[in-house]
Amino acid sequence: MEKEIKNSIVKIIASAATLAIAVIMEKTASLSTWQLLAVYLVPYLIAGYGTLKEAVEDLAEGKALEEDFLMSIATIGAMAIGFLPGGEPQFFEAVAVMLFFCAGELFEEIAEGKSRKSIAGLMDIRPDTANLEREDGEIRIVHPGDVNPGDTIVIRPGEKVPLDGKVIEGASSVDTVALTGESVPREIGAGDEIFSGCINLQGLLRVRVTKNFGESTASRILDMVENASENKSRNEKFITRFAKIYTPVVTAAAVLIAFIPPLLSGNFGASFPGWLYRALTFLIVSCPCALVISVPLAFFGGIGGASRKGILVKGGNCLEAISRTGTAVFDKTGTITEGVFEVSAVHPELIDKRELLHLAAHVERHSTHPIALSLRKTYPDEADDCMIENVRETAGQGITAEVNGSTVSVGNEKMMDGIGVKWIPCEKSGTIIHVAIDGVYAGHIVISDRVKAEAAGAIAALKKLGVGRTVMLTGDHEPVAKEVAEAVGIDEYRAGLLPEGKVNEVERLLGEKKAGTSLIFVGDGINDAPVLARADIGIAMGGLGSDAAIEAADIVLMDDRLPKIAETIKIARRTVSIARQNTLFAIAVKFAVLALAGAGLATMWMAVFADVGVTVLAVLNSMRTLRA
Ligand code: ADP
Ligand code: MG
Repeated sequence: MEKEIKNSIVKIIASAATLAIAVIMEKTASLSTWQLLAVYLVPYLIAGYGTLKEAVEDLAEGKALEEDFLMSIATIGAMAIGFLPGGEPQFFEAVAVMLFFCAGELFEEIAEGKSRKSIAGLMDIRPDTANLEREDGEIRIVHPGDVNPGDTIVIRPGEKVPLDGKVIEGASSVDTVALTGESVPREIGAGDEIFSGCINLQGLLRVRVTKNFGESTASRILDMVENASENKSRNEKFITRFAKIYTPVVTAAAVLIAFIPPLLSGNFGASFPGWLYRALTFLIVSCPCALVISVPLAFFGGIGGASRKGILVKGGNCLEAISRTGTAVFDKTGTITEGVFEVSAVHPELIDKRELLHLAAHVERHSTHPIALSLRKTYPDEADDCMIENVRETAGQGITAEVNGSTVSVGNEKMMDGIGVKWIPCEKSGTIIHVAIDGVYAGHIVISDRVKAEAAGAIAALKKLGVGRTVMLTGDHEPVAKEVAEAVGIDEYRAGLLPEGKVNEVERLLGEKKAGTSLIFVGDGINDAPVLARADIGIAMGGLGSDAAIEAADIVLMDDRLPKIAETIKIARRTVSIARQNTLFAIAVKFAVLALAGAGLATMWMAVFADVGVTVLAVLNSMRTLRA
C-alpha cells in the first residue's frame, strides 16, 4: 500500500515534468502534428499507462465498462482531433486529463487506506502472542493459534488477553474498551471468564484456555467487522446497478453527440471536430467514480464508528434498516431486567424449605438460564452425592430431571399444567418457580429480578427518535410483565409466551408495522435466537461470550447497555444521510456539467475538475461517518 502510493507520486511528478518539457517544445519549435504527438505521448503514457491497461483488460474480459474505459476513450479521442482536417490539436488537454485522473485516484487510495487503517486501529484487539506455560513451569512465547483449549497461559499486566479462558489464579482488572466501548475497567479474579481482546491492567493472571484462537471473542469480532462490507446496503447495490447501466448509456449518448449534429449541419467535415470535443468532454464528466467510491466508504465508516463503541453491525444493510426503526420489541429477562434473580420467598408444600431449594438447585445444575444461575447460588453446596440424570430443559417452561431416582420438575405454571400437576398460586409478586416431585406438587420458590437502571431512559430515547411502538415479550407471568413494562415505559406487553409464541407475536407485529419502517427485536440470546433471526433487525445484548447471540443477531451490543440502541439508530441515520448527500451532490454536479458539455460550454478542464473534485469532496464527506 505504502509502496503503491509512493509509485503513484513518482509517476505524477514524472508525467508533470515531461509535460512541461513538451509544452516548451511546442512553444519554441514549430513541430508537425505527428511530432507533437510523439512529444506529448511521453507524459501521457507515464500517467495513463495503468488506466489504458485496465481499460483494455476490462474490455477483453467483457466486464462492464468503467471509468478507466471512459477516460481512455476521451483522451485518445482528444488527441485524435488534432489529426482531423480543421481540428485543433488537444494534446495538452489529453495529458492533463490523464494526470488529474491519476492524482484523483491517488487521493482516493490514500483516503480509503486511511479509513480502513483507522478501523483496524480502533479495533486493535488482535493479539499477536500468548505466553504458554509448559508442564515443567517454563513459559514460552507462541502464536495464539498454537494454543489449545485446556492449555494454561500467563497474562502479564499491560498485555492483551490472547484467547478466551477462565482465570485459575490471580486478580486484576481488565480494560474492555476495545471490545465493548465501556471505559470502566472490569474486576476479575479466579473462576471468572476472561475474553480475548481485553487488556490486563494490573496483576499477573494464569488462565486456562477454553476456546481456540479462531473461536475466541477477538477473532470472531474481527471476522464480523471485516465481513460486514460484503452485506451491501440498498444504497450500495443501487450504485453498482446504476454504474452498470449508466456507463453504456453515456457512451452511446457521446457517440450521438459526436455524429448527429455534424450530420444534420450539412457540412460534416467542418463541424465534426468541435462536436467530437463536446462528446469527449461529456464522457469525462460522466464518470461515476464519486458515487462508486464514496457511498460504500460512508457505510464502511459508519460500521467502523459503531464498532468503536462496542456496537457490532453485520453490514450496511443492517444500518440502513435500523435507521428506519418504527417498532421496537424487547425480551424481558436479561434485556430489560438484569437477569440476576434473588430468592424472595420459599413456600414448600411437602418438604422443608431447604430440601425444596436443594432439589431446585440440582435440577438446574447444567442450565445457563439466569433463573438456574440464581437458584444454584442460593444452594451452593452442590457437591453432595445426589445422582442427577436425564436432564431435559423446555425453553420458556423449565427443567425436568431425575434426582436420586425421582422425577423432579422445576418451572412455571405452563410446565405444571403440561405434566398435569395442580399448582398453588402465590400471592407474592415476582417470578414463581413451581416444583413437582414424581407428579406431586411440592411447593414454589418466589424469585425477583431488578429492572435495569438505564432501561426507562433508553426507552424514552427511542420514543424521542420517533419509534412509535414499543412492545415487551416474555415467558414470565402476567403480573411481573405488567410491572416491568410500566416501570420502564413500554407501551404494550405479552406474557406467558413460549419461544414459538414470541416468533408468532413478532410475525404479527411485522404485519402491523407501517410501510417503510422496520421492526427491531432486542434480546439477550437466551431462548430468543429464533426471534432475533425473524425480526427485520435482531439486536443481541451482552455479546461478550454469547455464541448464539453473535450468530443469530444482525447487531450485537457487546455490553448489555440499552442506551446503545438509540445510539445505533443515530449513527445509522447519520451514515445513511451522508451517503444520500453524496449521491445527490454527485448526480447534481454531473448533470449540470453534462448539460454544459452538451451545449459546448464546458471545457475538458472543467470536466476533469468536476469529476475529481466531486470525488474528493464526497470521499471527505464519507469519512465523517468514522467520527460518529
Ligand atoms: P423471558 O421471556 O422473560 O426472557 P424465558 O423465555 O427465558 O424468559 O423463560 C420464561 C419463563 O419460563 C420463565 O419466567 C420461567 O418461569 C420459565 N423458565 C424458563 N427456563 C427456566 C429454568 N431453567 N428454570 C425454571 N423456570 C424456567
Ligand atoms: Mg430471555
